[in-house]
Amino acid sequence: MTEPPETPNGPDLLHFDLDGLRALIESLDQPAYRAKQIWRQLYQRGQLDASQMSDLPAELRRQLAEAAPVPAEPLETQRSEDGSTSKALIPLGDGELIETVLIRSAPRDTVCLSSQAGCAMGCVFCATGLQGLRRQLTAGEIMRQAILAREWSREEDRELTHVVFMGMGEPLANYANVSEAIARLTDPDGFALSPRRITVSTVGVPPGIRRLAADHPRVNLAVSLHAPDPQLRRELVPVPGASIDDILSAVREHNRMTGGRVTFEYVLLRGVNDSRGHARRLAERIAGLRAHVNLIPLNPSPGVVGDRPSRRATLSFQQALQDRGVPATVRVEQGRDIAAACGQLRGDRVRSAG
Ligand code: SAH
Ligand code: SF4
Repeated sequence: MTEPPETPNGPDLLHFDLDGLRALIESLDQPAYRAKQIWRQLYQRGQLDASQMSDLPAELRRQLAEAAPVPAEPLETQRSEDGSTSKALIPLGDGELIETVLIRSAPRDTVCLSSQAGCAMGCVFCATGLQGLRRQLTAGEIMRQAILAREWSREEDRELTHVVFMGMGEPLANYANVSEAIARLTDPDGFALSPRRITVSTVGVPPGIRRLAADHPRVNLAVSLHAPDPQLRRELVPVPGASIDDILSAVREHNRMTGGRVTFEYVLLRGVNDSRGHARRLAERIAGLRAHVNLIPLNPSPGVVGDRPSRRATLSFQQALQDRGVPATVRVEQGRDIAAACGQLRGDRVRSAG
Protein backbone atom coordinates (compact mmCIF):
# COMPACT_ATOMS: atom_id res chain seq x y z
CA MET A 1 0.00 0.00 0.00
CA THR A 2 1.03 3.57 -0.56
CA GLU A 3 2.41 5.33 2.46
CA PRO A 4 0.19 8.23 3.40
CA PRO A 5 1.44 11.63 2.24
CA GLU A 6 3.28 13.77 4.73
CA THR A 7 0.66 15.56 6.80
CA PRO A 8 1.15 17.97 9.68
CA ASN A 9 -0.73 15.75 12.17
CA GLY A 10 0.36 12.32 10.99
CA PRO A 11 -1.82 9.50 9.61
CA ASP A 12 -5.34 8.92 10.96
CA LEU A 13 -6.58 5.50 12.10
CA LEU A 14 -8.01 4.61 8.67
CA HIS A 15 -4.47 4.53 7.35
CA PHE A 16 -3.67 1.30 9.21
CA ASP A 17 -4.61 -2.19 8.10
CA LEU A 18 -5.48 -4.62 10.89
CA ASP A 19 -1.86 -5.69 11.44
CA GLY A 20 -0.79 -2.06 11.45
CA LEU A 21 -3.42 -1.25 14.06
CA ARG A 22 -2.18 -4.15 16.21
CA ALA A 23 1.37 -2.80 16.00
CA LEU A 24 0.16 0.67 16.93
CA ILE A 25 -1.76 -0.68 19.94
CA GLU A 26 1.25 -2.66 21.11
CA SER A 27 3.47 0.40 20.78
CA LEU A 28 1.09 2.06 23.23
CA ASP A 29 1.61 -0.87 25.67
CA GLN A 30 -1.97 -2.02 25.20
CA PRO A 31 -3.15 -5.56 24.37
CA ALA A 32 -3.29 -6.30 20.62
CA TYR A 33 -6.86 -7.67 20.79
CA ARG A 34 -8.06 -4.09 21.13
CA ALA A 35 -7.21 -3.62 17.46
CA LYS A 36 -10.27 -5.62 16.39
CA GLN A 37 -12.51 -3.45 18.59
CA ILE A 38 -11.12 -0.31 16.97
CA TRP A 39 -11.53 -1.88 13.53
CA ARG A 40 -15.22 -2.53 14.21
CA GLN A 41 -15.70 0.97 15.56
CA LEU A 42 -14.17 2.44 12.41
CA TYR A 43 -15.72 0.26 9.73
CA GLN A 44 -18.97 -1.02 11.26
CA ARG A 45 -20.05 1.96 13.31
CA GLY A 46 -18.26 4.64 11.32
CA GLN A 47 -16.83 6.11 14.52
CA LEU A 48 -13.65 7.90 13.40
CA ASP A 49 -13.01 9.74 16.67
CA ALA A 50 -11.07 7.52 19.07
CA SER A 51 -12.14 9.61 22.07
CA GLN A 52 -15.74 8.48 21.34
CA MET A 53 -15.04 4.74 21.08
CA SER A 54 -17.05 3.87 24.15
CA ASP A 55 -16.01 0.22 24.46
CA LEU A 56 -12.33 1.15 24.91
CA PRO A 57 -10.74 1.99 28.26
CA ALA A 58 -10.38 5.72 28.86
CA GLU A 59 -6.58 5.56 28.85
CA LEU A 60 -6.44 3.94 25.41
CA ARG A 61 -8.95 6.43 24.02
CA ARG A 62 -6.75 9.25 25.22
CA GLN A 63 -3.59 7.67 23.80
CA LEU A 64 -5.22 7.07 20.42
CA ALA A 65 -6.63 10.55 20.22
CA GLU A 66 -3.11 11.83 20.79
CA ALA A 67 -1.46 9.40 18.35
CA ALA A 68 -3.78 9.91 15.38
CA PRO A 69 -5.88 12.83 14.15
CA VAL A 70 -9.59 12.51 13.31
CA PRO A 71 -10.09 12.80 9.51
CA ALA A 72 -11.37 16.24 8.48
CA GLU A 73 -15.05 16.82 7.75
CA PRO A 74 -16.12 17.78 4.20
CA LEU A 75 -15.43 21.40 3.29
CA GLU A 76 -18.65 21.62 1.39
CA THR A 77 -21.67 19.43 0.72
CA GLN A 78 -24.33 19.95 -1.92
CA ARG A 79 -27.64 18.24 -2.56
CA SER A 80 -29.44 18.12 -5.90
CA GLU A 81 -32.74 19.90 -6.32
CA ASP A 82 -34.67 16.62 -6.37
CA GLY A 83 -32.87 15.46 -3.20
CA SER A 84 -31.60 12.27 -4.80
CA THR A 85 -27.91 13.10 -5.03
CA SER A 86 -25.42 14.50 -2.55
CA LYS A 87 -21.83 15.46 -3.15
CA ALA A 88 -19.05 16.11 -0.65
CA LEU A 89 -15.80 17.98 -1.20
CA ILE A 90 -13.35 16.27 1.16
CA PRO A 91 -9.99 17.75 2.16
CA LEU A 92 -7.17 15.25 2.59
CA GLY A 93 -4.44 15.59 5.21
CA ASP A 94 -2.02 17.25 2.78
CA GLY A 95 -4.55 19.71 1.34
CA GLU A 96 -5.59 17.75 -1.77
CA LEU A 97 -9.32 17.78 -2.45
CA ILE A 98 -11.50 14.93 -3.66
CA GLU A 99 -15.20 14.49 -4.32
CA THR A 100 -17.59 11.73 -3.30
CA VAL A 101 -21.15 11.30 -4.52
CA LEU A 102 -24.10 9.48 -2.94
CA ILE A 103 -26.96 8.56 -5.28
CA ARG A 104 -30.27 7.60 -3.68
CA SER A 105 -32.59 5.63 -5.93
CA ALA A 106 -34.94 3.32 -4.11
CA PRO A 107 -34.22 0.59 -3.20
CA ARG A 108 -30.52 1.32 -3.61
CA ASP A 109 -28.15 3.85 -2.19
CA THR A 110 -24.92 3.93 -4.20
CA VAL A 111 -21.71 5.70 -3.31
CA CYS A 112 -19.41 6.75 -6.12
CA LEU A 113 -15.85 6.65 -4.79
CA SER A 114 -12.77 8.51 -5.97
CA SER A 115 -9.59 6.43 -6.22
CA GLN A 116 -7.09 9.15 -7.17
CA ALA A 117 -6.79 12.91 -6.78
CA GLY A 118 -6.98 13.88 -10.47
CA CYS A 119 -6.33 11.35 -13.23
CA ALA A 120 -3.50 10.80 -15.70
CA MET A 121 -5.59 9.43 -18.58
CA GLY A 122 -6.84 12.74 -19.92
CA CYS A 123 -10.09 11.55 -21.54
CA VAL A 124 -11.05 14.65 -23.50
CA PHE A 125 -14.62 14.78 -22.18
CA CYS A 126 -13.85 14.30 -18.46
CA ALA A 127 -13.43 17.14 -15.96
CA THR A 128 -11.23 15.02 -13.67
CA GLY A 129 -8.78 14.43 -16.51
CA LEU A 130 -8.17 18.17 -16.90
CA GLN A 131 -5.99 18.41 -13.82
CA GLY A 132 -3.73 15.44 -14.57
CA LEU A 133 -2.78 13.01 -11.82
CA ARG A 134 -2.12 14.72 -8.50
CA ARG A 135 -1.66 11.62 -6.42
CA GLN A 136 -2.88 8.15 -5.48
CA LEU A 137 -5.40 7.86 -2.66
CA THR A 138 -4.59 5.50 0.19
CA ALA A 139 -7.00 2.69 1.11
CA GLY A 140 -7.92 4.75 4.18
CA GLU A 141 -8.79 7.80 2.08
CA ILE A 142 -11.01 5.61 -0.10
CA MET A 143 -12.71 4.11 2.98
CA ARG A 144 -13.24 7.58 4.44
CA GLN A 145 -15.56 8.30 1.52
CA ALA A 146 -17.55 5.07 1.92
CA ILE A 147 -17.98 5.69 5.65
CA LEU A 148 -19.17 9.25 5.07
CA ALA A 149 -21.73 8.17 2.45
CA ARG A 150 -23.04 5.39 4.67
CA GLU A 151 -23.47 7.97 7.41
CA TRP A 152 -25.60 10.07 5.07
CA SER A 153 -27.77 7.04 4.26
CA ARG A 154 -28.13 6.10 7.91
CA GLU A 155 -29.18 9.61 8.88
CA GLU A 156 -32.25 9.13 6.70
CA ASP A 157 -32.91 5.54 7.81
CA ARG A 158 -31.67 4.28 4.50
CA GLU A 159 -29.05 1.67 3.78
CA LEU A 160 -25.94 2.10 1.66
CA THR A 161 -26.25 -0.92 -0.63
CA HIS A 162 -23.81 -0.37 -3.51
CA VAL A 163 -20.30 0.94 -4.07
CA VAL A 164 -18.95 1.98 -7.47
CA PHE A 165 -15.40 3.13 -8.23
CA MET A 166 -16.58 5.74 -10.72
CA GLY A 167 -15.52 8.96 -9.05
CA MET A 168 -12.27 10.80 -9.68
CA GLY A 169 -9.35 8.78 -10.98
CA GLU A 170 -8.53 5.47 -12.61
CA PRO A 171 -8.89 2.73 -9.97
CA LEU A 172 -6.75 0.13 -11.74
CA ALA A 173 -3.87 2.63 -11.92
CA ASN A 174 -3.96 2.56 -8.09
CA TYR A 175 -4.40 -1.18 -7.79
CA ALA A 176 -2.87 -1.93 -4.38
CA ASN A 177 -4.89 0.68 -2.52
CA VAL A 178 -8.13 -0.08 -4.37
CA SER A 179 -7.66 -3.79 -3.70
CA GLU A 180 -7.07 -3.13 0.01
CA ALA A 181 -10.17 -0.91 0.11
CA ILE A 182 -12.23 -3.72 -1.50
CA ALA A 183 -10.90 -6.09 1.17
CA ARG A 184 -12.07 -3.73 3.93
CA LEU A 185 -15.41 -3.11 2.20
CA THR A 186 -16.12 -6.85 2.07
CA ASP A 187 -14.58 -7.81 5.44
CA PRO A 188 -17.37 -9.22 7.67
CA ASP A 189 -15.67 -7.47 10.62
CA GLY A 190 -15.26 -4.36 8.49
CA PHE A 191 -17.74 -2.66 6.18
CA ALA A 192 -19.40 -6.04 5.52
CA LEU A 193 -20.67 -5.46 2.00
CA SER A 194 -21.13 -8.25 -0.55
CA PRO A 195 -18.56 -8.09 -3.39
CA ARG A 196 -21.51 -8.47 -5.77
CA ARG A 197 -22.51 -4.95 -4.80
CA ILE A 198 -19.16 -3.42 -5.73
CA THR A 199 -18.24 -2.28 -9.25
CA VAL A 200 -14.82 -1.17 -10.45
CA SER A 201 -14.93 1.03 -13.55
CA THR A 202 -11.72 1.21 -15.57
CA VAL A 203 -10.64 2.99 -18.71
CA GLY A 204 -8.91 -0.29 -19.59
CA VAL A 205 -5.72 -1.43 -17.82
CA PRO A 206 -5.27 -5.09 -18.90
CA PRO A 207 -2.91 -6.25 -16.10
CA GLY A 208 -5.26 -4.62 -13.55
CA ILE A 209 -8.29 -6.36 -15.08
CA ARG A 210 -6.53 -9.73 -14.75
CA ARG A 211 -5.45 -9.05 -11.17
CA LEU A 212 -8.96 -7.99 -10.25
CA ALA A 213 -10.34 -11.24 -11.71
CA ALA A 214 -7.86 -13.26 -9.65
CA ASP A 215 -8.08 -11.30 -6.38
CA HIS A 216 -11.74 -10.23 -6.37
CA PRO A 217 -13.62 -12.53 -8.78
CA ARG A 218 -17.06 -11.57 -7.46
CA VAL A 219 -16.55 -7.82 -7.84
CA ASN A 220 -18.24 -6.42 -10.97
CA LEU A 221 -16.11 -4.99 -13.77
CA ALA A 222 -17.07 -2.05 -15.97
CA VAL A 223 -14.80 -1.06 -18.86
CA SER A 224 -15.03 2.39 -20.44
CA LEU A 225 -14.61 1.73 -24.15
CA HIS A 226 -16.16 4.79 -25.88
CA ALA A 227 -15.11 3.80 -29.39
CA PRO A 228 -15.14 0.74 -31.64
CA ASP A 229 -12.04 1.78 -33.62
CA PRO A 230 -8.44 2.34 -32.46
CA GLN A 231 -8.10 5.75 -34.11
CA LEU A 232 -11.23 7.20 -32.51
CA ARG A 233 -10.38 5.67 -29.16
CA ARG A 234 -6.96 7.39 -29.27
CA GLU A 235 -8.68 10.71 -29.89
CA LEU A 236 -11.00 10.29 -26.92
CA VAL A 237 -8.54 8.62 -24.51
CA PRO A 238 -5.29 10.26 -25.56
CA VAL A 239 -2.87 8.80 -23.01
CA PRO A 240 -1.07 6.00 -24.81
CA GLY A 241 -2.29 2.93 -23.01
CA ALA A 242 -3.60 -0.41 -24.00
CA SER A 243 -5.06 -1.06 -27.45
CA ILE A 244 -8.72 -2.03 -27.80
CA ASP A 245 -7.61 -5.57 -28.71
CA ASP A 246 -5.50 -5.88 -25.55
CA ILE A 247 -8.35 -4.58 -23.41
CA LEU A 248 -10.83 -6.99 -24.99
CA SER A 249 -8.55 -9.97 -24.48
CA ALA A 250 -8.20 -9.06 -20.79
CA VAL A 251 -12.00 -8.83 -20.63
CA ARG A 252 -12.29 -12.25 -22.29
CA GLU A 253 -10.05 -13.65 -19.58
CA HIS A 254 -12.08 -11.87 -16.91
CA ASN A 255 -15.23 -13.51 -18.34
CA ARG A 256 -13.54 -16.89 -18.18
CA MET A 257 -11.95 -16.54 -14.73
CA THR A 258 -15.00 -15.12 -12.96
CA GLY A 259 -17.92 -16.58 -14.89
CA GLY A 260 -19.33 -13.07 -14.71
CA ARG A 261 -20.49 -10.52 -17.21
CA VAL A 262 -18.71 -7.27 -17.99
CA THR A 263 -20.34 -3.89 -18.53
CA PHE A 264 -18.95 -1.71 -21.31
CA GLU A 265 -19.46 1.97 -20.66
CA TYR A 266 -19.73 4.14 -23.74
CA VAL A 267 -19.97 7.90 -23.40
CA LEU A 268 -21.94 9.22 -26.39
CA LEU A 269 -20.62 12.44 -27.94
CA ARG A 270 -22.76 14.12 -30.54
CA GLY A 271 -21.41 13.61 -34.05
CA VAL A 272 -18.25 11.92 -32.78
CA ASN A 273 -19.05 8.32 -31.80
CA ASP A 274 -22.85 8.19 -31.82
CA SER A 275 -23.82 6.94 -35.30
CA ARG A 276 -25.50 3.64 -36.08
CA GLY A 277 -22.28 2.65 -37.88
CA HIS A 278 -20.36 3.06 -34.62
CA ALA A 279 -22.98 0.94 -32.87
CA ARG A 280 -22.69 -1.78 -35.50
CA ARG A 281 -18.88 -1.87 -35.29
CA LEU A 282 -19.07 -1.89 -31.49
CA ALA A 283 -21.40 -4.89 -31.58
CA GLU A 284 -18.99 -6.69 -33.93
CA ARG A 285 -16.00 -5.89 -31.70
CA ILE A 286 -17.50 -7.28 -28.53
CA ALA A 287 -19.29 -10.25 -30.11
CA GLY A 288 -18.65 -13.46 -28.18
CA LEU A 289 -18.09 -11.72 -24.82
CA ARG A 290 -20.57 -11.95 -21.96
CA ALA A 291 -21.27 -8.27 -21.90
CA HIS A 292 -23.77 -5.52 -21.55
CA VAL A 293 -23.37 -1.95 -22.83
CA ASN A 294 -24.25 1.04 -20.71
CA LEU A 295 -24.63 4.19 -22.81
CA ILE A 296 -23.86 7.49 -21.07
CA PRO A 297 -25.00 10.62 -22.94
CA LEU A 298 -22.19 13.13 -22.39
CA ASN A 299 -22.49 15.41 -19.39
CA PRO A 300 -21.05 18.77 -20.33
CA SER A 301 -18.54 20.40 -18.03
CA PRO A 302 -16.57 23.63 -18.38
CA GLY A 303 -13.30 23.18 -20.21
CA VAL A 304 -13.99 19.74 -21.62
CA VAL A 305 -14.71 18.69 -25.16
CA GLY A 306 -17.96 17.42 -26.65
CA ASP A 307 -21.71 17.90 -26.91
CA ARG A 308 -24.54 15.78 -25.60
CA PRO A 309 -26.24 13.68 -28.30
CA SER A 310 -29.96 14.02 -29.00
CA ARG A 311 -32.32 11.64 -27.25
CA ARG A 312 -33.18 10.25 -30.66
CA ALA A 313 -29.55 9.45 -31.54
CA THR A 314 -29.08 7.82 -28.13
CA LEU A 315 -32.11 5.56 -28.52
CA SER A 316 -31.21 4.70 -32.09
CA PHE A 317 -27.68 3.71 -30.98
CA GLN A 318 -29.18 1.54 -28.25
CA GLN A 319 -31.58 -0.07 -30.73
CA ALA A 320 -28.75 -0.81 -33.18
CA LEU A 321 -26.90 -2.69 -30.44
CA GLN A 322 -30.00 -4.59 -29.36
CA ASP A 323 -30.78 -5.54 -32.96
CA ARG A 324 -27.43 -7.33 -32.98
CA GLY A 325 -28.14 -9.18 -29.76
CA VAL A 326 -26.12 -6.89 -27.46
CA PRO A 327 -27.99 -5.94 -24.29
CA ALA A 328 -27.81 -2.16 -23.93
CA THR A 329 -29.17 0.36 -21.45
CA VAL A 330 -29.00 4.14 -21.21
CA ARG A 331 -27.70 5.39 -17.89
CA VAL A 332 -30.24 7.33 -15.90
CA GLU A 333 -28.24 10.16 -14.46
CA GLN A 334 -28.82 12.12 -11.33
CA GLY A 335 -27.11 15.10 -9.83
CA ARG A 336 -26.23 17.06 -12.95
CA ASP A 337 -27.45 20.26 -11.32
CA ILE A 338 -24.71 20.00 -8.68
CA ALA A 339 -22.05 18.73 -11.12
CA ALA A 340 -22.12 15.32 -9.46
CA ALA A 341 -22.80 13.22 -12.56
CA CYS A 342 -20.24 11.09 -14.42
CA GLY A 343 -17.23 13.07 -15.56
CA GLN A 344 -18.15 16.26 -13.74
CA LEU A 345 -16.01 15.78 -10.63
CA ARG A 346 -13.08 18.11 -10.47
CA GLY A 347 -12.20 18.35 -6.81
CA ASP A 348 -12.27 22.10 -6.46
CA ARG A 349 -14.74 24.78 -5.65
CA VAL A 350 -15.31 25.95 -9.22
CA ARG A 351 -19.01 25.61 -9.88
CA SER A 352 -20.00 23.86 -13.05
CA ALA A 353 -22.68 25.15 -15.32
CA GLY A 354 -23.49 21.50 -16.23
N1 SAH B 1 -11.52 6.21 -14.62
C1 SAH B 1 -12.57 5.27 -14.64
C2 SAH B 1 -13.64 5.53 -13.61
C3 SAH B 1 -14.08 6.96 -13.39
S1 SAH B 1 -14.98 7.72 -14.69
C4 SAH B 1 -13.17 5.17 -16.02
O1 SAH B 1 -12.86 6.00 -16.86
O2 SAH B 1 -13.93 4.23 -16.24
C5 SAH B 1 -16.58 6.91 -14.59
C6 SAH B 1 -17.35 6.95 -15.91
O3 SAH B 1 -17.74 8.29 -16.23
C7 SAH B 1 -16.52 6.44 -17.09
O4 SAH B 1 -17.24 5.53 -17.87
C8 SAH B 1 -16.26 7.73 -17.85
O5 SAH B 1 -16.03 7.48 -19.19
C9 SAH B 1 -17.54 8.49 -17.60
N2 SAH B 1 -17.41 9.92 -17.94
C10 SAH B 1 -16.32 10.69 -17.86
N3 SAH B 1 -16.60 11.96 -18.26
C11 SAH B 1 -17.90 11.97 -18.61
C12 SAH B 1 -18.79 12.99 -19.08
N4 SAH B 1 -18.38 14.24 -19.28
N5 SAH B 1 -20.07 12.65 -19.34
C13 SAH B 1 -20.49 11.38 -19.13
N6 SAH B 1 -19.71 10.38 -18.65
C14 SAH B 1 -18.42 10.67 -18.40
FE1 SF4 C 1 -9.63 9.40 -15.83
FE2 SF4 C 1 -11.90 7.96 -16.09
FE3 SF4 C 1 -11.90 10.67 -16.39
FE4 SF4 C 1 -10.75 9.15 -18.24
S1 SF4 C 1 -12.93 9.16 -17.70
S2 SF4 C 1 -9.88 11.04 -17.35
S3 SF4 C 1 -9.87 7.50 -17.01
S4 SF4 C 1 -11.45 9.54 -14.53
